[in-house]
Amino acid sequence: MSAQIAVVGAGPGGMATAMRLAAQGYNVTIYEAAARVGGRMRGFERGPYAFDTGPTILQVPHVYEALFADCGLNFYDYVKLTRLDPNTRIKFWDGTHLDLRSDTAAFKRDLAAFSPELPAAFERWYVEHFRKEEVGYGPYLGTPVRAPLAYLKPAEIAAALPFRPWESLYDHFKGFFPDERLVYAFGYQAKYLGMHPTACSSVFSLVTFLEFEYGIWHPEGGFRALAQALARAAETLGVRIELNRPVRQVLVERGRASGLLMEDGERIDADAVIVNADFGYALQNLLPPKARGSYSDGWLKRKEFSCSTFMLYLGVDRRWDDLPHHQLYLSEHIRRHDPLWAKSAVLDEEDPSFYVCNPTIVDPNTAPAGHSTLFVLVPIPNLRYPVDWATKKDPYRQLILRQMAKLGYEDIERHIVTEHCYTAETWRDEHHTYEGSVFNLIHSWQQLGPLRPHIRHNGARNLYWIGGAVHPGSGLMTILEAARSAAIFIQEDLPSYQHSAVAS
Ligand SMILES: Cc1cc2nc3c(=O)[nH]c(=O)nc-3n(C[C@H](O)[C@H](O)[C@H](O)COP(=O)(O)OP(=O)(O)OC[C@H]3O[C@@H](n4cnc5c(N)ncnc54)[C@H](O)[C@@H]3O)c2cc1C
Repeated sequence: MSAQIAVVGAGPGGMATAMRLAAQGYNVTIYEAAARVGGRMRGFERGPYAFDTGPTILQVPHVYEALFADCGLNFYDYVKLTRLDPNTRIKFWDGTHLDLRSDTAAFKRDLAAFSPELPAAFERWYVEHFRKEEVGYGPYLGTPVRAPLAYLKPAEIAAALPFRPWESLYDHFKGFFPDERLVYAFGYQAKYLGMHPTACSSVFSLVTFLEFEYGIWHPEGGFRALAQALARAAETLGVRIELNRPVRQVLVERGRASGLLMEDGERIDADAVIVNADFGYALQNLLPPKARGSYSDGWLKRKEFSCSTFMLYLGVDRRWDDLPHHQLYLSEHIRRHDPLWAKSAVLDEEDPSFYVCNPTIVDPNTAPAGHSTLFVLVPIPNLRYPVDWATKKDPYRQLILRQMAKLGYEDIERHIVTEHCYTAETWRDEHHTYEGSVFNLIHSWQQLGPLRPHIRHNGARNLYWIGGAVHPGSGLMTILEAARSAAIFIQEDLPSYQHSAVAS
């Protein structure tokens, strides 16, 4: 009998790891607290309106293709992807806008309208990034984390030095594009790494490049459908997924994870446990105190966590076919980089930057004919920087509805048929995210690679982490890379031919 693996949580990381392990012959069961799979991307319905809750940007499809192919499956038997053009429209503080496009010839024509020297600058930047992808993706993003000293390989260091990794993302882009609008248009992803471009390393310009090079895609049926597809694929491979099955505690005996204690009191034995529940939440709530390893409450307090997000999910009685799928408004305040503003520790109640997804234009089944759903995301402080949401929620909603006119959603309130709102407290209470920090640990040098929590837990054997807290980081693409690493570590620790300790 093959080893029994229990996974806590059916988020994308939990399901991807389960797929890989099942394909390698392990006996895998996922225990999910919620009534549906997907975690932050599980989505929800309000009558005929269907909403994605978290991710809306699918990058680098070949990471998904590889996951399925490694398991003997074809990704496109499960998911239909549509490539978006433009990738994203950025509306700037001065009223101008720029469409980021993977059609680089068209993009360069748009840039020329901004300023005649920009197309050549973009070309230089783009060409440099073919090499940066070669040097950066495989050794750092796409492979399991190494011990710190193992990163001291002269050939790798020599290859990385020309890219000046010590520079900030801001300085990196400023070096190519003197126009600050371009700097922020290319560097805004830093927010999703929990940082301001002035504090974030230039290594992350690779993410901007990957979006240009491989495009931005939308899965038909939304990211809820992507979550369901991962679940179907996992089940095809033999994974059991039990919904409405909250775990109360990970059991650790004689220094080794030995199973789960369920909320209803049932004990589940396992040879190994993988925790996909949010790292900070799970440390404080699911691990026995003696098994927390180096991750004490003091450790958690010293770590920096990303912002949270204020969300409006709107079902509206009209469509905006003239507006793109992804739109971002960058307010003048994005240029403030004093420490509290830079880390979104201040609630911007004057002119917040925000993002709107308008998925109905490519995926009409999200709403009744002629209607649409809109997804509005505003970065806000995580719960370390308290905001009295009981009194702030309604005025903030009003502010954001007014702000939406800046992206062309005029008079939106008149069109709302149904709506749902999330604050940082909703992320904490309904999705169990530590401090409501939706993008997990920030990606500063002190919290990167070997300095992030390791997939192999350091407080108990046969206990593993998968999700945004571990190397390489907190987006879907990186979590799928982490799932590959998790399967490698478990294969090393627990070869699949090993007889189950439970059965013996
Ligand atoms: C608003 C928002 C926008 C985002 N946009 C993007 C984007 O555009 N592109 C992108 O790539 N990424 C994006 N992300 C990040 C992406 O959503 C996350 O990286 C990803 O969902 C995290 O996946 P995960 O595997 O860590 O698990 P999670 O999604 O955190 O899932 C963890 C699962 O564990 C379950 N669980 C928790 N506690 C228990 C328990 N006690 N017992 C059993 N189960 C439990 C939860 O119910 C949940 O299902 C976004 C995130 C948010 C919040």
